Amino acid sequence: MTSPMIRAVDVHKRFGPVEVLKGVSLDVDKGEVLAVIGPSGSGKSTFLRCLIHLETIHRGSIEIEGESLVATDAQGHCKYVPEADIRRVCRKMGMVFQHFNLFPHLTVLQNLIEAPLTVKTARLDDIVPKAEALLRKVGLFDKRNSYPSRLSGGQKQRVAIARALAMEPDIMLFDEPTSALDPELTGEVLNTMRALAEEHMTMIVVTHEMAFAREVAGRVVFMDGGTIVEARPARELFAAPRHPRTRAFLEKML
Ligand code: ADP
Ligand code: MG
Repeated sequence: MTSPMIRAVDVHKRFGPVEVLKGVSLDVDKGEVLAVIGPSGSGKSTFLRCLIHLETIHRGSIEIEGESLVATDAQGHCKYVPEADIRRVCRKMGMVFQHFNLFPHLTVLQNLIEAPLTVKTARLDDIVPKAEALLRKVGLFDKRNSYPSRLSGGQKQRVAIARALAMEPDIMLFDEPTSALDPELTGEVLNTMRALAEEHMTMIVVTHEMAFAREVAGRVVFMDGGTIVEARPARELFAAPRHPRTRAFLEKML
């Protein structure tokens, strides 16, 4: 039995008194492409941020490739996981945000090599060719010496994807990667993600792009009010949503 790439069990997260994740459980297998959909404020971003340890959880557990990232006991006390282990486990995941978060003072190529150079202490001779290959892959090799401010939103997001890939993650998390883009620029970013999916990258994609979710995702998770309401094969969920809340949401979106 191999472990799932991601196993979240009964994840609870509060901000102050407000519980925004109310017991979220989800397994993601190797090579799965999972779309997470749901209304604004339903906890989609918070869930992704918990998976990559940008937020701490109050109850439940998260394992990445069988390794514990966080776990609480029955009393809700966190079990101790050494900081070095947390960092190592989190490095298995790359994340792409709505607002790109590129380093503005670095060129495109420098954006890609910064983290591998500092974190992996790899050699420049090894990293640069890899980074250049990734830029070719996302169609931005000719922009390698440009600064982010010279790029379109779609180009910035493709750099952000390439930058995450430069750390050679096993899992990619995307939080509404096209929501900040003009409609004519979403296609190039979605195509880059589609290509990754075809290479069997394990991916969780929070998105409002229903066509993308239907075509590219194997499974779709509908979140509402801090819980997973439905998680089913994409084709099934779009064809025949089971829950009235899923149905109401899809009617508004499609
Ligand atoms: P979604 O991504 O589905 O739109 P979020 O995960 O961003 O939802 O937010 C879920 C809920 O948690 C919202 O009510 C939001 O206002 C709240 N929230 C998110 N981040 C914070 C924070 N840092 N502090 C307080 N409340 C937060
Ligand atoms: Mg969000």
